[in-house]
Amino acid sequence: MEAGDGLLVRVRPSLGRLDGAQLRGLCEAAMAFGNGLIDLTSRANLQIRGVSAQAWPLLVERLKALALIHADPIMEMRRAILVSPDWTEGDDTVGIARELAARLAELPTLPAKVGFIVDTKDAPLLIGETGDFRIERGAHGGLILRADGRPTGVAVEPGDAVDQLIRLATWFLASGGADAGRMVRHRAPLPGWAQGALAPARVGMSIRPGSHPLGFAYAVPFGTVEAATLAQLGNVAVRLTPWRILIVEGGAGRTITGLSSDRADPLLRVDACPGAPRCPQASVETRALARRIAPHVAGGLHVSGCAKGCARAAPAELCVTGREGRYDLARDARAGAPPQRAGMDAAALLDYLGAD
Ligand code: SF4
Repeated sequence: MEAGDGLLVRVRPSLGRLDGAQLRGLCEAAMAFGNGLIDLTSRANLQIRGVSAQAWPLLVERLKALALIHADPIMEMRRAILVSPDWTEGDDTVGIARELAARLAELPTLPAKVGFIVDTKDAPLLIGETGDFRIERGAHGGLILRADGRPTGVAVEPGDAVDQLIRLATWFLASGGADAGRMVRHRAPLPGWAQGALAPARVGMSIRPGSHPLGFAYAVPFGTVEAATLAQLGNVAVRLTPWRILIVEGGAGRTITGLSSDRADPLLRVDACPGAPRCPQASVETRALARRIAPHVAGGLHVSGCAKGCARAAPAELCVTGREGRYDLARDARAGAPPQRAGMDAAALLDYLGAD
């Protein structure tokens, strides 16, 4: 994909995990072929930023050698499988996700953003995440197949879960789902075999920075990290989450500049898009400003380079939007909402918020 700082190359590690060699190789590739910045996305994927058209084929070959992308671009497009990051080897999440990954050729060609969720622990973690076709732990203890946007689903067994996912995806397309774009917007009644009254199990505790049963969880402020920072983790395996948090398997945490292990870090309450100069639509800088403002804001803070609001769709307690090189400020608002104060430069904004 094109971005303001060059091509953006998405990497979808299998089961949301990179082993030590993959992590090292990915960091080296991001520094050699990109601008050294890596995004952690809300689908628990990675994006290597700032790749030139000349470097892109070399990067793709490197990623293939690291087994981080599928050799077939069509299959790579279909590998939109988000798994709960607390999986354990041999559990239903691993079994179903691996089987689905092995049967991608059986899927129809789905709209670009359509994806799958596999979340089978007793306390699911991905209930709040978008995913069109879902296998989840049900409140009754067994697995359910659930279409996104429907509150309940139908019982499935681990052995037929992938058959049913493929069947639901195929029905989605055959019933006109491509026009809706996503399952949540597709209003066609589900076929009888996909209708059920089984609710998902109660959602589990969210993952936060600090100690975790798998090792140690670090937050990635703004969801972007320098490859050199990630490389400091050393020869370790990491798991990705959709919440700008990565889990280092095994061991204790340590201080790494650029990653946060402090649950009270004000940056954890901040959404800020790349802004200027990285995004061509931005007329203002965003993230450095957000770092200065964050300690002075009690609730959620959104700093957006323009009214599009890519970093956050929901309202934030304080929302700062760039417009024609200046900042508008609104409370309990989305980016671009009518401002309470308009047209401030950075100094005036910092002064107003007591952050100068
Ligand atoms: S919100 Fe605007 S400035 Fe920020 S990334 Fe999106 S388009 Fe670019």
